[in-house]
Amino acid sequence: MIKLYNTLGRKKQIFKSLKKNKVGLYTCGPTVYNYAHIGNLRSYLFSDILKRMLEYNNYKVKHVINITDVGHLVSDADTGEDKIELGAKREKKTAWQIAEFYTKVFQKDIKKLNIKEPSEWTKASDYIKEQIDLIKLLEKRGYTYRIKDGIYFDTSKIKDYGKLTGSKKRTHKARIETTEGKKNPTDFALWKFSQKKRQMEWNSPWGIGFPGWHTECVVMGIDQLGLPFDIHTGGIDHIPVHHSNEIAQAEAGYNKNLAKYWLHNEFLILKKEKMAKSKGEIITLDSLIKKNINPLSYRYLTLTTHYKSPLAFSWKSLESAQNALENLYEKVSKLKLYHALYNSTVGNYKKEFLGYINDDLNTPKALALMWKLIKSNKADYDLLLEFDKIFGLDLDKIKSVSRQNKIPEKIKKLAKQREQYRKEKEWKKSDEIRKEIEKLGYQIEDTPQGPKLK
Ligand code: AMP
Ligand code: ZN
Repeated sequence: MIKLYNTLGRKKQIFKSLKKNKVGLYTCGPTVYNYAHIGNLRSYLFSDILKRMLEYNNYKVKHVINITDVGHLVSDADTGEDKIELGAKREKKTAWQIAEFYTKVFQKDIKKLNIKEPSEWTKASDYIKEQIDLIKLLEKRGYTYRIKDGIYFDTSKIKDYGKLTGSKKRTHKARIETTEGKKNPTDFALWKFSQKKRQMEWNSPWGIGFPGWHTECVVMGIDQLGLPFDIHTGGIDHIPVHHSNEIAQAEAGYNKNLAKYWLHNEFLILKKEKMAKSKGEIITLDSLIKKNINPLSYRYLTLTTHYKSPLAFSWKSLESAQNALENLYEKVSKLKLYHALYNSTVGNYKKEFLGYINDDLNTPKALALMWKLIKSNKADYDLLLEFDKIFGLDLDKIKSVSRQNKIPEKIKKLAKQREQYRKEKEWKKSDEIRKEIEKLGYQIEDTPQGPKLK
């Protein structure tokens, strides 16, 4: 039995797929105007664990991640400049080049994090016709109105607009900005007119312009997964605006829910605030790599906290995650050498593991179980590989500890000599020895406990 916390209804529910053994999963993708930060990446790590859990339970998952390459304005309330056009100005490139460049960077980032490639990538700019068609349908059904800057959706026509927020009030904090002529603060742009020449703009029955940000996911989700589809994911900031607006459009256009389950990850927090590009300080995956952090250490860190709890980022906690991961790799390498001698314990512990994972993705408990078994010598290699189908920490790529992996005497001697030079503050000489060690295929790392050879 799988239980998932459905934001729509605000409770944990038993998961039942719409089609037998199949799941349609839609994840709101990145707006490709800049590097994704590790907060954004938490969102995709979460949907990856969700997908792995479903696959582990023998569902065939069709996973769609979209690329927002047009229509996402600086403010989620549809005001300000288009983020992609702004990126183009900043980098003196075309909007298309910006979108392509940051899409590739994003795709590389998620690969480094062992996030499985989605079944489909869909691009907002490839779905302009479908978005226009949906807006035409909404217009025909009487849900739209025209003001100076575009065609808007009248949210007062939806009885339970904003039900995803769990609040009865129609307005919410995220929508303080308002555009002249809007009937209700929560109304949102379906089609914006180009006020001046833009790089990305299209003809439409209402005039030259571009689609608002909230229509793309509706048409791409329906096109790829049908209506309704099973699960829609995103970060919690999408609840009051983007996802509420997606739901409103599907209900107005087709009298149907867009998705049966709505799942949202909490934020990665930096200095007591959500990590966000608009707040200035962000951390990218590449900046972690430059500090010799294995991207999978960040993956490990996110597993230690439930996806519905905020995760306060600190370099210290990331280092601890890296240590834990290295420790795990060491244990696995030893187990691998001996695993042929052990009986597999997979069957016994799989059930307990599955119990945690299927209970709304309780990765902290699943990790704790793994460590408990390792510490009590109950884990074997096969069992750890089984767990890793969900964790995705590359445990199958760990080499076993064998003679070849032992540090030769010559290297140890060089390391001792280097230590002596360091004590004597002979930095040049100690550096030369370090280089020699590296040439021979080993690495020396200075830790608070003394130098370590790898
Ligand atoms: P964006 O590229 O801004 O559209 O965001 C991509 C995804 O990252 C969305 O699902 C957001 O909800 C999510 N997100 C943004 N900031 C954070 C954060 N600090 N922690 C976790 N998820 C975030
Ligand atoms: Zn979306």
